[in-house]
Amino acid sequence: MQASNHTHTKINNKNFILKEIIINKCITRIDLAKFTGLTKMTVTNIVNELKSDGLILESDEFDNQNVGRNPIMLCINPAKTVIGVYLNRDYAEIFAGDMSGNIYDDTRTYLRDETTDSINKKISSCIDKLLKKYKNVLGIGISAIGPLDSENGIILDPPNFFGIKNYCIKEFLQNEYDLPVYVENDMNTSAIAEKYWGFAGDIPDYIYLGATNGIGAGIVMGGHLSRTIGEIGHVSIDINGAKCRCGNNGCLEMYASIPHNIDPESHEEKCRYLAHGVITLINLFDPGTIFLGHRIPLLGEDAPDKIKRYIKNRYISKSSNDVEIKFSKFGRRSPKYGAVAIFVERHIF
Ligand SMILES: [Zn+2]
Repeated sequence: MQASNHTHTKINNKNFILKEIIINKCITRIDLAKFTGLTKMTVTNIVNELKSDGLILESDEFDNQNVGRNPIMLCINPAKTVIGVYLNRDYAEIFAGDMSGNIYDDTRTYLRDETTDSINKKISSCIDKLLKKYKNVLGIGISAIGPLDSENGIILDPPNFFGIKNYCIKEFLQNEYDLPVYVENDMNTSAIAEKYWGFAGDIPDYIYLGATNGIGAGIVMGGHLSRTIGEIGHVSIDINGAKCRCGNNGCLEMYASIPHNIDPESHEEKCRYLAHGVITLINLFDPGTIFLGHRIPLLGEDAPDKIKRYIKNRYISKSSNDVEIKFSKFGRRSPKYGAVAIFVERHIF
């Protein structure tokens, strides 16, 4: 019992330190001890482990100018690569990324009348090319439409997706490449991208709200992804409304979904409907911050302010401060960064 607790603490401390290095880009050992509250000895031991894992480098290992002048910084090793896949109804994007939040060599392949086999072929031909170029690949992270079984990496039965059901994408890629593969829905991955490379940083409780032709939310509580499904798009806002694809009536996504060619005249109305979703999220989870992403930035720069105006005096929150509502750092590109982020979150942490 004691041994397992000890191991658990050690893993937590290692995760904690690596997360601080990712968030700060480069950091000294002294600041690491200060920010994490861990002893200098613990920091030194864990830093040595991360160095021997090849996940971090000291600044003098790649920046000669630094030698002898400045304190040595600990930085993420940019040579360690993650292959990312963003799979949605219209296309798959395949790319390489690193733990510093950079994305390289992305290829988009459009999907038309597909089967699981044809999608597998399209994705694997792009991955083959990346594997020729990148030698230090840690594994594969996938940001996909849901609903999905993330533990087993199965995309279950997404509506309007060529009639495909129970698509075992994780099993296929693991067998094909013998690399670790992690699959998560694109709202959850986007929420995690915000933690490492976006605007969330050390904020413990926040929500990522994304809208395209569907609407969903990734909920982070205490710095970790909540297992709560964020199907906010299927909260009814009109019990007498038309029937939704989920069987319910008057679901939020029937009013607030955002096509990619959104008419500017409907920006205001979309913000008003999205505000209803935001109110529900605040009443259920009381987050400090809500990040808006996917296609919500298409509603104009002032969309967060409009939504803030619509929610004013319409929710109950135990926090004394107002909930912050702002755009996510990566907007429409959030799910791509999310694919790399979910790999980091699941594999390393
Ligand atoms: Zn619905």
